[in-house]
Amino acid sequence: MNEHITIAIDGPAGCGKSTVAKELSKRLNIIYLDTGAMYRAVAYWAIKSNIDINENNPDFMNMLKSMSMEIKYVDKFPNVIVNGENVSSYLREKEVSMKSSIVAKIPAVRKRMVELQQELARFNSVVMDGRDIGTKVLPASKNKFFLTASIEERAKRRYLQEKETGISIEEIKRDIMLRDENDKTRAASPLVKADDAIEIDTSDLTALQVVDMIFKRVKSNVL
Ligand code: C5P
Repeated sequence: MNEHITIAIDGPAGCGKSTVAKELSKRLNIIYLDTGAMYRAVAYWAIKSNIDINENNPDFMNMLKSMSMEIKYVDKFPNVIVNGENVSSYLREKEVSMKSSIVAKIPAVRKRMVELQQELARFNSVVMDGRDIGTKVLPASKNKFFLTASIEERAKRRYLQEKETGISIEEIKRDIMLRDENDKTRAASPLVKADDAIEIDTSDLTALQVVDMIFKRVKSNVL
């Protein structure tokens, strides 16, 4: 496809966004951006620097101001580079996951991340997954999707990805519910479906079935 395409995929943790977005980007031969990784990278850098994540903490705000962040594509996969260091392999740690939803409440953080995401979309066709892509990052996109799934199914999916770490399904469920609460109730860009997004409950669907549904829809929007 030669036209400039942007696809927004939002939804809560464990609803299948990233699997679907990655596969879709391959099928359409466009880039994929995991915007959650950017919030995770800010959280990781604060943890590594021993800085309390709080917008009233001058050390945190200075860290944010002086921090450089770029997205580098390696085999079409986005790597997050913070202050020249590729931090991608540290971003799935439990502490980073939990603190990422605290970082994501801070308006100054969101402003920086959204600017970077929008710049990337200006020059590239892209499929992005996140929480505010349809509402804030790509509000003019014709291709907006909001994925959901039951909490049981979401916890099960995360458990299958993370069971080697020894974590229990109950613990995962608690973490997901806490992050949902943070994401839905924050004042800045809470997790909500854009009015014009198509909602897909993925509980009883395979990732490929969801990809097929979105792919067909995007193609019909483009033609
Ligand atoms: O998607 P993922 O679980 O990696 O995102 C990590 C955290 O980053 C989420 O819990 C959410 O708080 C935040 N996030 C966000 N807006 C986005 C993407 C992620 O607030 N567009």
